[in-house]
Amino acid sequence: MKRVYTLKDIEGLKAAGGSIPADAILTPQAKEALRDGLVSVATGAAPAQNKGGDPYPVPDKEIYWTPGSDPKTPEEIQKFFFSPKMQALKALIVDLGLRSYNKNYNDGNGGNFSVRVGENLVLCTPTMISKGRMSVEDMCLVDMEGKQLAGNRKRTSEVLAHIAIMKRQPKAKACCHAHPPHATAFAITGKTPPRCVNPETEIFIAQVGIADYGTPGTQAMADKVGEVGKDHDCVFMLNHGVITWANEIETAFWKMENVEAHCYTSMLAFQIGGPRQFSDADAEKLMEIRRALGMIDQPKNDKFRECNLCDTPDELRPGCVCSSIAQTDVKGTPPNAGFDSKAEDIVAKITQMIISELNK
Ligand SMILES: [Zn+2]
Repeated sequence: MKRVYTLKDIEGLKAAGGSIPADAILTPQAKEALRDGLVSVATGAAPAQNKGGDPYPVPDKEIYWTPGSDPKTPEEIQKFFFSPKMQALKALIVDLGLRSYNKNYNDGNGGNFSVRVGENLVLCTPTMISKGRMSVEDMCLVDMEGKQLAGNRKRTSEVLAHIAIMKRQPKAKACCHAHPPHATAFAITGKTPPRCVNPETEIFIAQVGIADYGTPGTQAMADKVGEVGKDHDCVFMLNHGVITWANEIETAFWKMENVEAHCYTSMLAFQIGGPRQFSDADAEKLMEIRRALGMIDQPKNDKFRECNLCDTPDELRPGCVCSSIAQTDVKGTPPNAGFDSKAEDIVAKITQMIISELNK
C-alpha cells in the first residue's frame, strides 16, 4: 500500500538512515524540501507486492532463475551452493524434515525433499538419513539428470522421480516424498481417497493420481511417477508412499499434510457410515478457487468422478457402505433407502423359527 510522507517523516527517515520507497506519495512541503535539497534521503525500491497490490502479500518462497544463467564451472557451482539464499533454503528443508519426522510421516530413512533452484539445478536431501536428524551440511545439489554436482553426502535415489515430475510440469518446482501411514495405506491398496468431502483437499489436491508399482529409485519408476505427476499435485506410488509437489517446498509439504489428514478422516468417516458429500455445483465453486490460485487443471475424466460415492466402482470408494447417508445428500433419497434384503430374509427366517417353536 502506498504511503504518504510528510516533511517530518522524511526528516525522521534521514535521522534513522532509512530510504523513501519508490512509490511513496509526498506532501507538497516534503516534495519542495527534497527538490530544494533542504533534506536528502535515499530513494529505495518499491516494496514487494503481489499482482493484486495486496498490502499484506504472502511471502513468496518460490525460486526464480533466468534461462541460461545457471552457474557452470565447479567454482561457480560451489559459490552458488553456499550462497546465503541456498543456505536459507537448506535450513528450511532441515526444518521441514524434522516436522515431517515428528508427524510420523518418515519411518527409518524414508522420504525426501527437493527444490528446483535453476534451469538445470536441483537441491535435494541425501540418501540414508533420518529426516529428523538432518543438518544444512547434509544437503546435495544435482543437475536435471540426477548427476551430483555438490554436497558431501550421496543424493537420494528418489530425486529421479522428483525430477521426472519437474521435467514434465514446469509449475512443479519443489517435491516432497513421505510415507504418512493413512495415505500410504491407500497407496498400498491401490485406492484414492473420496472426492467432494473436504473443501481444502478439493482445492489443493483435487484428484490424487496413482503411479503403478516400480522398484524405488529406478528411472523406470521415476518415469511412471512423472507421467502421473504432471497432471496431479499428489501422486500415490503403488505399494510405496506419496509424492506431493508445488511451486515451493513448504507448499508441497502442506499438501502432504492435507492429503494425509484427508485419508485419516476419510477412514474414520467410512467406519461411521461413510462421508457426506457435497454437490457437483459446490465442488465447481472450489475448482474456481483452485483455478484462481493458478493451480493446474486436471484431466477432464478425473473431475468429480467420485462425487457420488455409490456411482463409482468399488475400488474408488474403499470401505464405503453405500448407505442412504451418502446418497441422500447428493441426489435425494434413493429407492429402498435403508432396505437390506439379506437382513430382511434372516429376520423372516428367525421369526418363522420362533413361531414354529412356540406352536410346538
Ligand atoms: Zn519412499
